[in-house]
Amino acid sequence: MSEQQTESAETDDSIGEKLVELAKRRGYFFQSSGAYGGVGGFYTFGPQGAALKGNVEDAWRDRFAVAEGNMEIDAPTIMPEPVFEASGHLDGFDDMLVECPDCGESHRADHIVEDNTEYEDAESLPIPEVEEVIAEYELVCPNCGTGLAGQAVETFNLMFGTNIGPGDSQPGYLRPETAQGIFVEFPRLKEYARNQLPFGVTQIGRAYRNEISPRRSIIRTREFTQAELEFFIDPETDEPDLSAVADVEVRLYPASEQTAESAAQRAAEEASGDGEEPREGGEEIRTTIGDAVAEGVIASPWVAYFLGVAKRWYDAVGVDMDRFRFRQHLAGERAHYASDCWDAEGELDGNWIELAGFSDRGDYDLSKHAAHSEDRFTVFRQYDEPKTVERATVDPDMSYLGPEFGGDAQAVVSELETLAERDRAAFEGDNVTIELDGESHELPTEKTGFAVEEQTEAGEHIIPHVIEPSFGVDRLVYTVLHHAYREDEVDGEDRTYLELDPEVAPTFVGVFPLQNDDELEATANDIVADLRDAGLSVTYDDSGNIGRRYRRQDEVGTPFCVTVDYETLEEREAQRASDTASGDAPRAEAATVTVRERDTTAQKRLPVSELPEIMADLRAGELAFEDLDGKNES
Ligand code: ATP
Repeated sequence: MSEQQTESAETDDSIGEKLVELAKRRGYFFQSSGAYGGVGGFYTFGPQGAALKGNVEDAWRDRFAVAEGNMEIDAPTIMPEPVFEASGHLDGFDDMLVECPDCGESHRADHIVEDNTEYEDAESLPIPEVEEVIAEYELVCPNCGTGLAGQAVETFNLMFGTNIGPGDSQPGYLRPETAQGIFVEFPRLKEYARNQLPFGVTQIGRAYRNEISPRRSIIRTREFTQAELEFFIDPETDEPDLSAVADVEVRLYPASEQTAESAAQRAAEEASGDGEEPREGGEEIRTTIGDAVAEGVIASPWVAYFLGVAKRWYDAVGVDMDRFRFRQHLAGERAHYASDCWDAEGELDGNWIELAGFSDRGDYDLSKHAAHSEDRFTVFRQYDEPKTVERATVDPDMSYLGPEFGGDAQAVVSELETLAERDRAAFEGDNVTIELDGESHELPTEKTGFAVEEQTEAGEHIIPHVIEPSFGVDRLVYTVLHHAYREDEVDGEDRTYLELDPEVAPTFVGVFPLQNDDELEATANDIVADLRDAGLSVTYDDSGNIGRRYRRQDEVGTPFCVTVDYETLEEREAQRASDTASGDAPRAEAATVTVRERDTTAQKRLPVSELPEIMADLRAGELAFEDLDGKNES
């Protein structure tokens, strides 16, 4: 049973390829609808993957909903068209598409440019410029190598459309982000928050994007899971508790450093050939959240707060902190309404991949829904002291407006109200001019009932600002697996194992009877039941030799394995015999089993009766395997 671990080495190239193969073989994830040839961009999470994903989601919920005191909701994934008209997705949720003239494959034009030139942010370039870059660099189809110069680059909306009910009278869309389900319900959600800012609403659920070229397995798919928090604040009065995260160490890659790096790269290319050494580019900054805010590296204290919380959380679920950073969006990359935006990035096979976005979205989302709907997207901000303010009002003479403007009289009243609020000077002369349907109309000022009055106000209605941490769950699952992937040699044989954090590992314990023997199997099954009663996820395996069973569990990342052998049975019998001889009630406490730790392959004999408690403590991180008293096995 004992194993010899001789070498520990991590391969760092093409782990992705090995991982995808392992994921399929061991039930983490695989392309969906394989029986019908599969379809690009859709993946099924198998038993291990679904469990890992569920654990990651639970950990996210514990942190971002429960521990932060935010509310969680669960909104539909299909929403009617007006939602996306208001949000801007209908007009602007586009990617750049270029089609190969030879093989007909569609590609993201900006990705082709970014992958093959020094441009880092091609998404922000105007289409004609992208076409020029493709021609200038003679870029080719990644599928068949045909030149793409001269091919039109077009915009392609990423939303999946559908019809709600029979016929096509009510178009709908599968949501491209979970966020809109929160924004549109704001008028009700603020009531649940007793109309008090700040408050946060979370949602974990599916999002759909008809990606032009889904790639890298579950990193870019057409259906994926997001975990989003929309945190509503009063920008003038609310401040985060930065002291809670001030000492969190972070690796930041600000926009200014990225710009410096691109400039350095271009300079190096221009200088190449003349013997000059390429100049170093921009550098990442290693600092703390507290210092980053104090020094203005992160402009928004709210964004900084969530970066700090997220960094700790990513660490806890098993992202390798040596391969993790926050990168600020470049000015062109950022949505026009966002004042600051940072991405959490994980390094995978030498590439930095976006795992989450953290942005200060201002009042953009709620203002848009307020403008497009009848509902109220404001919160009342109470002043410390009531304020006396001057208000310009109108009280038009309807006996004049009626005959003069007929059916438009009410519209004239609204125009006058708006004008009085906006421009008091317009009422200074004998006549007032208003615009109605593009036409100017004059009317005597005395008929408007214009007056400036003093009013006492207790507060005002404001549209809250939104801070949005938006996490991709699938990309995180992939990153956790990638960062946990290890290869070493045990007993002269190659071994692959996943060093998954116990909090997220799909299975915590594997229990094996040493051989196919009724008594060993019955005892092993009793142990399985006891461990499950203790709330642990357990798998029972009696097929193949013990070495193979260990390898299987290593490959799915099970932190511990328990083997029941004949020693277990003998110890139990001996205890029973001695209890019977001494007149005590028979016990089985003295029986032990072999417990083997995944990462070190170290083995210890531990008492069966204490297993549930020990295992629960190991999972909770309250106990370390090496500190356990137990007979070590070599
Ligand atoms: P990208 O630039 O990679 O397309 P994005 O900036 O459009 O991503 P967001 O809209 O900010 O992504 O979505 C938040 C998170 O959702 C991303 O950080 C990512 O983890 C995840 N995500 C977005 N698109 C996909 C996708 N097609 N497949 C899997 N996850 C995705």
